[in-house]
Amino acid sequence: MADTPLKLFNSLTRSLEEFQPVHEGEARVYSCGPTVYNYPHIGNMRAYVFADVLGRTLSWKGYDLTHIINITDVGHLTDDADAGEDKLEKAAAKSEKSIWDIAAHYTEAFKADIAALNIRQPAKWSVATDYIEPMIDFAKSIADRHCYELDSGLYFDVSTIEDYGRLARAVTEEGEGRIDTVEGKRNAADFAIWRKTPPGEKRQMEWDSPWGKGAPGWHLECSVMGEKLLGFPFDIHTGGIDHREIHHPNEIAQNQAFCGCGGLDEATHSGAKIWMHNNFLVERSGKMSKSSGEFLRLQLLIDKGYHPLAYRMMCLQAHYRSELEFSWEGMGAALTRLKRLVIAVEALRDEASQAVAEHPKFASVLSKFDGAIADDLNTPIALTALEEALAIKKVDAGMKRAVVEEMDRVLGLDIFDLTRADLRIRPKDAQITEAEIEADLLRRKEARLAKDFATSDAIRASLAASGVEVMDGDPLGWEWKLV
Ligand code: AMP
Ligand code: ZN
Repeated sequence: MADTPLKLFNSLTRSLEEFQPVHEGEARVYSCGPTVYNYPHIGNMRAYVFADVLGRTLSWKGYDLTHIINITDVGHLTDDADAGEDKLEKAAAKSEKSIWDIAAHYTEAFKADIAALNIRQPAKWSVATDYIEPMIDFAKSIADRHCYELDSGLYFDVSTIEDYGRLARAVTEEGEGRIDTVEGKRNAADFAIWRKTPPGEKRQMEWDSPWGKGAPGWHLECSVMGEKLLGFPFDIHTGGIDHREIHHPNEIAQNQAFCGCGGLDEATHSGAKIWMHNNFLVERSGKMSKSSGEFLRLQLLIDKGYHPLAYRMMCLQAHYRSELEFSWEGMGAALTRLKRLVIAVEALRDEASQAVAEHPKFASVLSKFDGAIADDLNTPIALTALEEALAIKKVDAGMKRAVVEEMDRVLGLDIFDLTRADLRIRPKDAQITEAEIEADLLRRKEARLAKDFATSDAIRASLAASGVEVMDGDPLGWEWKLV
């Protein structure tokens, strides 16, 4: 079923390319991980839903997948263009907790969101501070030919490698960084690969190095963990589209220096064969920003009664390279769509899954699904293929189950394990319990049978006052929901 050759959009060449693994039968993927100074927002999680669909697709197509996601617990400054403070040092300065405790807390919170979104665990969570020694070794190996030292740190001179910034293409004033951000920089785009602790200061996270006490630059971390864990060149590097402008061009420059490679007409000189970027989840009123007070965390969605997998559904409904606009109406629509799927598979739940046999009734939806996923992970179309498979009539239920299960292995909506009860998340401020609702509904049913419509209406009104909408005649047979 998964025969269509996989085509992926390579941001480096700005074109669709057929996936050809570096190592036969394998797929090695590195995804830039979160900076753990705060909870992730749901925009961040879109990046990992995308990386998960990519990983699941590679597994489904038969490749032996090694997926690495890193945890950035040091080095990421408040301004990507090499200015500002370390995000974690800044968070720790405002808190009574140590920087290590802060990193541990938000790493756990991130992993909880990963699990809630049914994102598969990577082969390894690589924590940046576990790789300080290799980072220093890497920096040492390129320092002579590609770097220069200033009072504030060791800087990479981007004029020493070919094709700097090819990934970003349009190098903007802002994206490139300003020459005046650091005194003594040779080129505007030069960046710190090691930041020295200023004299007289003590940082919570600092290490000795040939360039003095300090901390690694953020870009160095990903170059080193990618190289150590996957080897250059590996297959695919992923991240959000913001990383296409600064972080990844800088990683690529370091990788070229480390390999002693030439220009980027040969994509593998960048350290990876394919660079993929998900577009942003946007929200008009700025609730995506972690500095905006109540920002959009997965937990906020849950508190409002939306199952996390409804958010996964929302992501899958858009192509990963399209911007996706968040709205609560959109969340409601995604939840309804997920409910429809869960109800549709209820009928198949007790069927023993059969091998996906060739069956003319399934042939066209299977090839539609495979064609969509193989076409740069077109999940919106793949979802419709799954729905079409569920709607096929007069076929063996076990076979249908097998087909739908196979599709969900890639989409990861977990529809065979989800139940109606799971999807009926109580909004945080709801008081009434499910048992009370069910008891009231039973009394109402009895009243209606006895044609006592006054009592039936009174029960309905009292449920409404407790935030329960009774859904008589709902085509999905949903019966009730908390509003
Ligand atoms: P950070 O924790 O800021 O390093 O970001 C973690 C990941 O989320 C990176 O791959 C970012 O590119 C990505 N990202 C940040 N904001 C958004 C957003 N609004 N939508 C999608 N991805 C995002
Ligand atoms: Zn990175």
